[in-house]
Amino acid sequence: MRYCPQCKADMVDRELDGVSRLACQSSNCDYVYWQNPTPVVAGIVEYKGKIVMAHNVAWPKAFFSVITGFLEQGEDPAVAMVRETKEELNLTVTAQRLIGAYGFEQMNQVIIAYHLEAEGSIVLNEELDDYKLVEKKDIVPWDMGTGLALKDYLASLNQSLQH
Ligand SMILES: [Zn+2]
Repeated sequence: MRYCPQCKADMVDRELDGVSRLACQSSNCDYVYWQNPTPVVAGIVEYKGKIVMAHNVAWPKAFFSVITGFLEQGEDPAVAMVRETKEELNLTVTAQRLIGAYGFEQMNQVIIAYHLEAEGSIVLNEELDDYKLVEKKDIVPWDMGTGLALKDYLASLNQSLQH
């Protein structure tokens, strides 16, 4: 960002509360580019007793993950997740539970993750080109981003088995 979106003056590095920020040069303007993380919804979609792991067209061939999406302006995250499940998989959500919220520093995002039960017939949208239905016991979560949500989801299943 070279120019201030409020007053068009140059943006410069400025030390604010001990952190270097990109900020407007003008003394009449208080604009700071905070780079706040973007919220993202993630859905661990259960379909016919298995978890839908989908492949995004932009990803390496072997990488499959849960469904994710951005929020529309003013949209509740739970509503966004139901919408994304319909858009990306053509599935209708019948049950929804919040798993947790996870910082994802590499992408400057905060992931709000849900477990969903869904029904219908899977039809992928243009963002996805393949999917797998994976048994819960065969899921191997990774150590960042949506992988952390999968870990917590699997841990919650083990807990409920012990009761
Ligand atoms: Zn400015």
